[in-house]
Amino acid sequence: MSTAPTQLPVIVAGGGIGGLAAALALVRQGFAVTVLEQAPEIGEIGAGIQIGPNGFHAFDALGVGDKARGRAVYTDFMVMHDAIDEYQVGKIPTDEKFRQRFGNPYAVIHRADVHLSLLEAAQETGQVQFHTSTRVVRIEQDDHSVTVWDQNGKAFKGCALIGADGVKSVVREQFVGDPARVTGHVVYRAVVEKKDFPEDLQWNAAAIWVGPNCHLVHYPLRGGEQYNVVVTFHSREQEEWGVKDGSKEEVQSYFQGISPKRAN
Ligand SMILES: Cc1cc2nc3c(=O)[nH]c(=O)nc-3n(C[C@H](O)[C@H](O)[C@H](O)COP(=O)(O)OP(=O)(O)OC[C@H]3O[C@@H](n4cnc5c(N)ncnc54)[C@H](O)[C@@H]3O)c2cc1C
Repeated sequence: MSTAPTQLPVIVAGGGIGGLAAALALVRQGFAVTVLEQAPEIGEIGAGIQIGPNGFHAFDALGVGDKARGRAVYTDFMVMHDAIDEYQVGKIPTDEKFRQRFGNPYAVIHRADVHLSLLEAAQETGQVQFHTSTRVVRIEQDDHSVTVWDQNGKAFKGCALIGADGVKSVVREQFVGDPARVTGHVVYRAVVEKKDFPEDLQWNAAAIWVGPNCHLVHYPLRGGEQYNVVVTFHSREQEEWGVKDGSKEEVQSYFQGISPKRAN
């Protein structure tokens, strides 16, 4: 006897932030979910994310608002400067009045803490099955179901499949087949211990310095013990999507002419 399609789980390929958020949303709608993750463990790398009130509203809808707010760092303001002459372009307090107005805070949070909040909530539902070391390699679908095969030839059957398997998605490759779009922006990022971060910039704020074809962002992480620093520039080269080694000289060549204080 075949299983009725409605009793099949929704399969989610990829256990990143997108996959776990989709899994939770599906459980809240009454679906059972199977998450297939290629890595040996469900986990997250990366650094900080700035989250506005709308992001926290989304967490609230998924039932993880309190977890995420509990792990966030609350900044006093956000500020934008001109990177050339240090002119302050704008400054917005993110205080209680801001929270009242938008119904949620503006905060910065480590990416791993966003992922953890979603993972804990998904596990707590008891409705999400996780399969790690399971790389989706092939998909077949008919009118009622979808079958997904992993690298070992194991098949998983579901009523639907969500491809949350990242920028090099196998799911997208099979059904859309378009190449990843490359914007030409190159990003360098670092997490710097407080003692190594310039004292005059140790603001409890999300700060951005904007220059021609380049910008620099910094904000505190994990209670202000660390600072997330991200520099972005529009490359002169024909870039391909991916991660490769860079150099201080390369970054500085894009920040010629900006305030020397901020260029180092
Ligand atoms: C170097 C770098 C730094 C970044 N820094 C930031 C930042 O600081 N702040 C920010 O907001 N955003 C940042 N981003 C962007 C952010 O990473 C992505 O927008 C976000 O991770 C996308 O989430 P996702 O769940 O869709 O995909 P991913 O996070 O890529 O998750 C995809 C998951 O699917 C798994 N997977 C892949 N293929 C398969 C397969 N075939 N079968 C099964 N599982 C599979 C992967 O192992 C992974 O766990 C950064 C991106 C990069 C590349």
